[in-house]
Amino acid sequence: MVAQDARDFQYRARVEDSDGRTYHVPCKTARGTDDSMARRSIRARDLPDNGPGSGWYRCLPEPPPARRVTGDIRADYAVVGAGICGCSVARRLGELRPDASIALVDAARLGHGTSGRNAGFLLDHHSHGGVDHLETARKNDRLSAAGTSWLRELVRDHQIRCQWSDWGRVYVAATPAGLDALAGVGSGFDALAVDWQRLGRDAVTRLTGSGYYLAGIRAGGSALVQPAAMMRGLGTSLPANVELYEDSPVHEIDTRGGYRLVCPEGVIATGTVILCTHVAAGRMGVASARVVPVATFASLTEPLSDHQAAMLGNGSEFGLLPAHPNGSTVRLTRDRRILMRNSLRYSRTGRYSTALIEEMAAVHRRSIAARWPDLGDVAFTGTWGGVLGFTRNEGAVFGQFRDGLFALVSPDAAPMTRGAIGGKLLAELICGHDSDLLRVMLSVPAAARIPPDPLLRLLVNRRLGRSSP
Ligand SMILES: Cc1cc2nc3c(=O)[nH]c(=O)nc-3n(C[C@H](O)[C@H](O)[C@H](O)COP(=O)(O)OP(=O)(O)OC[C@H]3O[C@@H](n4cnc5c(N)ncnc54)[C@H](O)[C@@H]3O)c2cc1C
Repeated sequence: MVAQDARDFQYRARVEDSDGRTYHVPCKTARGTDDSMARRSIRARDLPDNGPGSGWYRCLPEPPPARRVTGDIRADYAVVGAGICGCSVARRLGELRPDASIALVDAARLGHGTSGRNAGFLLDHHSHGGVDHLETARKNDRLSAAGTSWLRELVRDHQIRCQWSDWGRVYVAATPAGLDALAGVGSGFDALAVDWQRLGRDAVTRLTGSGYYLAGIRAGGSALVQPAAMMRGLGTSLPANVELYEDSPVHEIDTRGGYRLVCPEGVIATGTVILCTHVAAGRMGVASARVVPVATFASLTEPLSDHQAAMLGNGSEFGLLPAHPNGSTVRLTRDRRILMRNSLRYSRTGRYSTALIEEMAAVHRRSIAARWPDLGDVAFTGTWGGVLGFTRNEGAVFGQFRDGLFALVSPDAAPMTRGAIGGKLLAELICGHDSDLLRVMLSVPAAARIPPDPLLRLLVNRRLGRSSP
């Protein structure tokens, strides 16, 4: 199964099967590449700044002090970005190349980035009403389901305490537009052969304790987690040959003779770089005109009292996804907190002012009160923002972008699970391993080009319209 190193392949990966037959798998090499990739030095403009820690992160104990990049470090592989994509690439590289050294470097603490500040749905499938690209959606579903299974194994094997739950998910509608979108969710599930069950208004009221919703659709096969806890657990259970460096922003990647990753207090020299910096990859010249950055916001409450929790239905937890893209994601967590996520805004920088976070906290408070009128003043552990990436065609940013430089961005539906499996498969591609799943990944079309700003901003804002609570 093992073939030569994928750095030797320019546009097609040559792989060998177990009988020694050789064939070529098209690699997304160079697709999504922008001019800056040909430069001698790649500068990271607008380093990430997610602002205050998420509510999830605040629930965790203080981590031990970070190991930073200091002085001169040499590594066989350097992975930039320790979100779900970077952690997955680094883990799999560590497993497949036990004698190699792997540096995993992040600008912040692990669990602080988007992978630790999301709504905690690990999805086998996801769409907001309908399926636009059926073939691609089928492939992405297969990848996402494999991602969920792999994460389930890792959480179990490493005993990661992250409130993992197989409760599943319920898509909900609260308006006529939401009901239309809910019908689209059902027909999308039919097209993809996903089992689902319609819930009438009473059933959703029993489940949530709220009469706010008109109907729902229940589907299984996904998981719910405390995302910051899962990310921290994934970080502390990496193979021994993976060294994690945090609080070490990579300002510049010098490409003259191998790669030199320049951080404020030191440099990592390496032959192979894997960029897993999410939408920031665009600012480093990878897929800059292919992924649309959209910010969304969430609040997590303090644990509810027995009296308050009794207002939220007859179960101990739930996870609701909006059928309509402008709706709200709502969870009752296992430790009895409410998670409220809504509001979408075009966001190139991913930076949020204090005033905006306060505005979002007020929106979330109103959203909670609309569902449970007696809980409008429940205390929040935190309110925060983060950026989602979207493509025009549910396409991929995956593969080799110049000699020795690979990248992975996980946009669109189910990015956590698709990012996890995408990271695993990218490491396998780099090490020359072939599999059916890698071929599925490689057959997903490359993310299509998007228009530049200010046209993009205009188009996206028009499409998003007003986010409804
Ligand atoms: C509020 C919210 C709710 C969401 N809910 C869900 C959900 O329920 N389910 C789901 O699947 N997805 C959800 N998402 C989306 C999902 O979290 C992201 O798509 C996913 O985490 C992206 O993973 P990643 O590894 O690509 O990026 P990230 O997790 O963002 O990791 C990239 C890392 O790169 C680092 N980095 C960037 N530039 C540099 C640099 N120059 N030097 C060093 N490090 C750098 C960053 O610090 C960051 O840690 C949600 C997102 C938000 C904001």
